[in-house]
Amino acid sequence: MVQAKTWILKQHFEGFPKDTDFELKLEQLSEPRDGEVLLEAVFLSVDPYMRPFSRVRMQAGDVMIGTQVAKVIQSNNPSFPVGCHVVSRCGWRTHTVSDGSDITKILDDWPQDVSLSHALGAIGMPGLTALYGLEEVCAIKPGETLLVNAAAGAVGSVAGQIAKLKGCKVVGSAGSDDKVAYLKELGFDQAFNYKTVPSLEEALKNASPEGYDCYFENVGGPFSSVAILQMKAFGRIAVCGGISLYNDTTPQTGPYPHLQMIFKQLKMEGFLVGRWEHKNDESLKRMLTWMQEGNLKCKEHVTVGFENMPAAFMGMLRGENIGKAIVKV
Ligand code: NDP
Repeated sequence: MVQAKTWILKQHFEGFPKDTDFELKLEQLSEPRDGEVLLEAVFLSVDPYMRPFSRVRMQAGDVMIGTQVAKVIQSNNPSFPVGCHVVSRCGWRTHTVSDGSDITKILDDWPQDVSLSHALGAIGMPGLTALYGLEEVCAIKPGETLLVNAAAGAVGSVAGQIAKLKGCKVVGSAGSDDKVAYLKELGFDQAFNYKTVPSLEEALKNASPEGYDCYFENVGGPFSSVAILQMKAFGRIAVCGGISLYNDTTPQTGPYPHLQMIFKQLKMEGFLVGRWEHKNDESLKRMLTWMQEGNLKCKEHVTVGFENMPAAFMGMLRGENIGKAIVKV
């Protein structure tokens, strides 16, 4: 009988998550039955969405939500033979018995020299988010100027690079000088540290005096209020995330963008990556090709040890990661 380690949400987060909100628990797993497989986690993802989704999708005592790359170590399901790797939505657990409904096989032609952890990053949900935000929501065109914040993170760094591939000018903001240096390495035209610039408005104007056609929004809050003022007429804003709001205990208030949006006839659209799930296979192949051609570079911030899941999650929310935050079991 296999024993799984799991991380439980002991109590709902109030403000910024704390160590005491999590509890490590052991769970005895039963033998996989017909159609079931036993999974062993290899890499786990820590993502910002876990913070707001924990409030709406979870109850105290539930296993923390999340995705992992896992290896099939026992199988009674011919679609998932022993030794194959899958992406599983089973949460923060070392071992899982799955009936196959919440797992997806990693692309058959996944190259040997690309770490499987990228299936949780650029060649996975965050990469797809970047692609769909640009192509489906912004409908970005060559020659346009894109602004992206949290730009050195999993989604932002891919969004910026895809926009460069499409022949756009890209401006990124991030929270440290090391992150800004990374953005320049990735080919961003302009990048700045939003924590140290004397004026965000001036930084945005200096980076693109003519304004922005598209804005890939990961942060929300006061950044957003200033950035919306810098949009060009008929600009498009893809509202992907609002990480500056996730730990608020009382809602932030205005300024409100209505007049700017009316006068400049802006379009602002929130989206969830799952809307274009039917395109995922083709999209992942496209991004894998970009990666293999050297046009999509993806750093990872790897924390070792399943016992460090909460620390990795809180570190990511604090901005400790450059690129995708991953836990290696
Ligand atoms: P990142 O890898 O970008 O990690 C989070 C980053 O957010 C941190 O590194 C930090 O970078 C930044 N950050 C944290 N707090 C603040 C703050 N108060 N103000 C500004 N920046 C902050 O995460 P992801 O790339 O995985 O996610 C980016 C965004 O995309 C999130 O908002 C997430 O919720 C959203 N998302 C939305 C999806 C959708 O379907 N709509 C799917 C996936 C992600 P820094 O040092 O630069 O501050």
